[in-house]
Amino acid sequence: MRWQQGRKSRNIEDRRGGRGGGTVARRGGSKMGGLMTIGLVIAGLVFGVNPMKLINMTGGLGGLGGGGASIGAPAGGGVQYDASARKDDQAGQFVASVLGYTEDTWNDIFRSYGAKYQPPTLVMFEGSVRSACGTQSSAAGPFYCPGDKQVYIDTSFFRELQNMGAPGDFAMAYVIGHEVAHHVQNLEGISMKVQGRQRRVSKVEANRLSVLTELQADCYAGVWAHHTQKKTRFLEEGDLEEGLNAAAQIGDDVLLKKAGHTPHESMYTHGSAKQRQQWFTEGLRNGKVENCNTFRQAGVQL
Ligand SMILES: [Zn+2]
Repeated sequence: MRWQQGRKSRNIEDRRGGRGGGTVARRGGSKMGGLMTIGLVIAGLVFGVNPMKLINMTGGLGGLGGGGASIGAPAGGGVQYDASARKDDQAGQFVASVLGYTEDTWNDIFRSYGAKYQPPTLVMFEGSVRSACGTQSSAAGPFYCPGDKQVYIDTSFFRELQNMGAPGDFAMAYVIGHEVAHHVQNLEGISMKVQGRQRRVSKVEANRLSVLTELQADCYAGVWAHHTQKKTRFLEEGDLEEGLNAAAQIGDDVLLKKAGHTPHESMYTHGSAKQRQQWFTEGLRNGKVENCNTFRQAGVQL
């Protein structure tokens, strides 16, 4: 990935270095990886904290559709991240660059539909973090909280991803793209519709709706990469393979097997390796948001 050339987003709040409730480690520059050594524990939880649970925790998504008031004025005790002043901070530079690409591309896509994209704030933290979705530990992996419209990432997760067999910068970009996709779903009102429906159906069906939401986010991540590539040529040889491999490595069946379980669909929260690859590919290939309607394809009328 030629990520260095990208515009660095300013919509980042830096809560690393013990801010925001994290007590596990102090500011450690690039040495943060040691925080979580038990890859499999994380593996079982990657990307989540089932995001639907997070939604439920917020108790009603009150702020949907409202303005992103937190941008530029961090409320969580962190500081706005200035990438230009932190050239030595690789992880921060990378996150700021990829987030910048998501802003530019989703801006264009929303505009093409006559809508206006409101970017999320991304919070970098270490250890644990407080959000409108409760206090979360790093072990839960990156997540998006609809209640405060923020993406949360402990940047040491990137090393965990590598340990899980998903190396490469585009694997990491896919993770960020996936979380930002949840923000897009939130702006579209999809998250709220899914949550409403989940309250009325069985646990198994609610779980299935979670999977469909996750697969749509994978597809949106592909849509984002498609358009970003068209405009900036940010991909290098091998990048797509890194992304597709990451999608497989964090498939529920792969993770369940690694954790010693026999995979069964009822245990899925994000979809199988094959499903995640398929939907990511669908977005990548066509770049069309409409082609990401995982719900319609499953016969669900939201
Ligand atoms: Zn997700």
